[in-house]
Amino acid sequence: MKWLAFSGLILGLLCLPAASVLAADCGPDALGTTRTISLKRGAGGAFGTVQHPALPGLQKGEVVLTFDDGPVPVLTPRVLDALKAECAKATFFMTGGNLDAHGDLARRAVAEGHSAGIHSYSHPHLGTLSEAAQLDDLARTQAAYKRLFGVTAPSYRFPFLEETPALMAALAKDKVAVFSIDLAITDWQPADTTAMLADRLSKALDEAGGGIILMHDANPPTAEAIATLLRVIKQKGYRLVHVDWEG
Ligand SMILES: [Zn+2]
Repeated sequence: MKWLAFSGLILGLLCLPAASVLAADCGPDALGTTRTISLKRGAGGAFGTVQHPALPGLQKGEVVLTFDDGPVPVLTPRVLDALKAECAKATFFMTGGNLDAHGDLARRAVAEGHSAGIHSYSHPHLGTLSEAAQLDDLARTQAAYKRLFGVTAPSYRFPFLEETPALMAALAKDKVAVFSIDLAITDWQPADTTAMLADRLSKALDEAGGGIILMHDANPPTAEAIATLLRVIKQKGYRLVHVDWEG
């Protein structure tokens, strides 16, 4: 009997850590990902109320996390680690240059369940380029994406949200979805602190009531603040929705 009780205790002790690790990973305290909006690959469209209609199906109180300009060493891994700790899924709009330079990080993001779109090759002000140069930038970026993932990117975000007629036409023709935003935290200023970014996010959420959030994983203050920013979303009661592409 003693042995049985003892082995039961051992079994209990063995099981406990596993259960608590699971709870810490994806329990009710984590932000989590409440649902996925699956868009058809090749359906095109343009979303985000700063420039376009809202993402179809996205409700008030729901947010979609998007990160631009990566992937880059050190910073993108910090963002990916923080997302993993909160069981949060996001969409990364990656530049072709960084896809070529840091393909391992792009693959890691996708392997961890995030979706990936493109964000130009080298982040130019596209409107200052000739139409031919704009189209070349898109072709180079899609080629970089295809080398890594075997397919072209289903979605595109314009650098600086500066849309051009030539690229809008090309993306519409290729049925690539254009992703604008609903709210942002202007996270590109080097002196920003975590408290400042958290305050900006809180106010932007209050104002917009949810939507597609723009952040920058390649921005050091954002990578520093990301765990706190995810807690802000959770504590304010917003629900995270993941966008991905099927087919
Ligand atoms: Zn950008």
